[in-house]
Amino acid sequence: MNRVVVVGAGPAGLSAALRLAAAGCEVTVCEQASVPGGKACSVTSGGYVLDAGPTVLTLPETIAEALACVGEDAADWLELMPVDPAYRAHFADGSRLDVLTDTDAMADQIARVCGAREAEGYRRYVAFLRALYRYECREFIDRNVDSVRQLLSPGLARLVALGAFRSLDAKAASCLRDPRTRRLFTFQALYAGLAPHRARALYAIISYMDAVAGVVHPPRTAHRPPHAGPRPRRGPQRRRSQPTGHQRGDSAR
Ligand SMILES: Cc1cc2nc3c(=O)[nH]c(=O)nc-3n(C[C@H](O)[C@H](O)[C@H](O)COP(=O)(O)OP(=O)(O)OC[C@H]3O[C@@H](n4cnc5c(N)ncnc54)[C@H](O)[C@@H]3O)c2cc1C
Repeated sequence: MNRVVVVGAGPAGLSAALRLAAAGCEVTVCEQASVPGGKACSVTSGGYVLDAGPTVLTLPETIAEALACVGEDAADWLELMPVDPAYRAHFADGSRLDVLTDTDAMADQIARVCGAREAEGYRRYVAFLRALYRYECREFIDRNVDSVRQLLSPGLARLVALGAFRSLDAKAASCLRDPRTRRLFTFQALYAGLAPHRARALYAIISYMDAVAGVVHPPRTAHRPPHAGPRPRRGPQRRRSQPTGHQRGDSAR
């Protein structure tokens, strides 16, 4: 049996550990912090438990898939509530838009607030977002890419044809003429640290995950203490560790 050590019990390390365990490896997870979770941790202060990182989660099925690998049901581990509307935007002119996951309901609302033509543009933008997600996920995110050459796939040509390498702002403006809807469906690039006018349209995948696929909220904080849930029946071993190996950026502090 292969023995594997995973360094770091954040979402990435935990997901890798579950998948490796499911593939038959003997997995040990080393974590320098006292609890797993990484940035999805919570801080207790003055009797309140506060989420330090995610308060809402996108694509909850990725968590379910990782747990299903080791025969666990995500519902036994996490309570997730859909957040709908995902956002409520108030604009300077006094108008308001709720971001609804239901495309038809959202289009109706945009038609009421911004006009029928804008609603039509929204539907075209959602079609773009769905296609973008499909190609990016299938050909790049969900695939192992070991060399630049492997990036040169038919998926890349499809993304070019979709306009995924244009400026995000310009791509959105080709569908959304109203600055309110444009802001509502492009600001998500800021999550990756990029203003929409500096980002490629590729980053609109975050808008898809957020405003089209929808977000969920774990009501009892994003982080759940390790003793609160059941132990995986055939999951990895946990181990609290000192920082493992060399950490880039470490100073002599
Ligand atoms: C303020 C904030 C809000 C966010 N909001 C959202 C949100 O709403 N929705 C969402 O989906 N995402 C959100 N995120 C992003 C999400 O938290 C991260 O994408 C996710 O935590 C990344 O997981 P990771 O496992 O890659 O890294 P991390 O979560 O950083 O985990 C890495 C782990 O490795 C450990 N580690 C590192 N080096 C060593 C070592 N040498 N030895 C031992 N252990 C080590 C660390 O202690 C840590 O526990 C947010 C993040 C922040 C900071």
